[in-house]
Amino acid sequence: MSDSIEFTPLATSDSLDQDDEPITTKPKSSSTSRPKKISLSAQIERIADAAIGGLGPVLIVVAFLLLSITIFCYFTVLLPFHHSWKEGEGLSGNLGYIFHWTWGCYLVWGISANYFFAVRISPGTVLDGVSSSGDAMFQDVLQEMESYTELPPTCKRCHLPKPERTHHCSVCKSCVLKYDHHCPWIHNCVGHFNHRYFLMFLTYLSIACVYFVIMGAGPFMLAADMDSESNWPYWLDRSLVAFSEVLAVAIGFAVGGMACWHWYLTLTAQTTLEQYNNSYIKKICKKKGDTFTNMYDFGVIGNLQDFFNIGPRGHYPWYTAFLPLRIPPIGNGKRFERSGRGFVLDFGDDDEDMV
Ligand SMILES: [Zn+2]
Ligand SMILES: [Zn+2]
Repeated sequence: MSDSIEFTPLATSDSLDQDDEPITTKPKSSSTSRPKKISLSAQIERIADAAIGGLGPVLIVVAFLLLSITIFCYFTVLLPFHHSWKEGEGLSGNLGYIFHWTWGCYLVWGISANYFFAVRISPGTVLDGVSSSGDAMFQDVLQEMESYTELPPTCKRCHLPKPERTHHCSVCKSCVLKYDHHCPWIHNCVGHFNHRYFLMFLTYLSIACVYFVIMGAGPFMLAADMDSESNWPYWLDRSLVAFSEVLAVAIGFAVGGMACWHWYLTLTAQTTLEQYNNSYIKKICKKKGDTFTNMYDFGVIGNLQDFFNIGPRGHYPWYTAFLPLRIPPIGNGKRFERSGRGFVLDFGDDDEDMV
């Protein structure tokens, strides 16, 4: 490592990025220039990317089928097992049935709407808002970024400027704004314009799994009791009910863990990629006795307002965070407000500059 390395948010995210040339990192040593030779690992990576891309539509169909089975199972077995509409007792006598029926519908709406938005809405690319093509397109992108205080690096694959927090997705073959990761289950990248829907899809699905497991415990025990064939009054086959219960447990653990991770990222204003880079820089700072702070971090409340576009920092009322509606995020995903607590760490001396 050289004697003097400067860390800025751009250099931070780009220093570990293989797809661009970080022009904000100093000094630019000769070791950064690599021969253009496709290694075996790069070839394997390309095959894996193609496989992930091809698998996407299949996984969407699988997700749709699994969701359909469990939803059908809930309304035809789980709900009738616990509550049924009692004729002649009116609304007051059927409150339990109404509550669980409404709650089930709300979860289905939350899961399906957010999944649909996560799949269909583009995470955002550098070319958003640019209608021209060819050289004119490149000029338009550069013109848009003329007002930027820091000149962004250029992606070696797209040959277009990369705004802050942007990363190239090798599966989608484009640079994605506020890139988090590529998810084969939505056949899409998770980025600036669809991260909200991805997070809420995970959240609704996790809650639904817990609810389903609790509601399905009784029917599952009944379905597992193969000796009592006559004790199964439901139209749906008992094996499908047992399968749904096991599926809900497995998905609940997997998706629940992922939901917790993305809530942590949201509350700390980081993407998955940034979190890895930030933790790396934190270690370096710790060795130097410095404290690293994320310049996009406005505190838990501020970060929530930014992410959901609600409250004083956003444009929508707070309760819209719980509504599975299409609500755009703050900004165009190319520039982000900074809390002013980011800093440049210079290994050449002990100066720490606020940016
Ligand atoms: Zn790119
Ligand atoms: Zn992607």
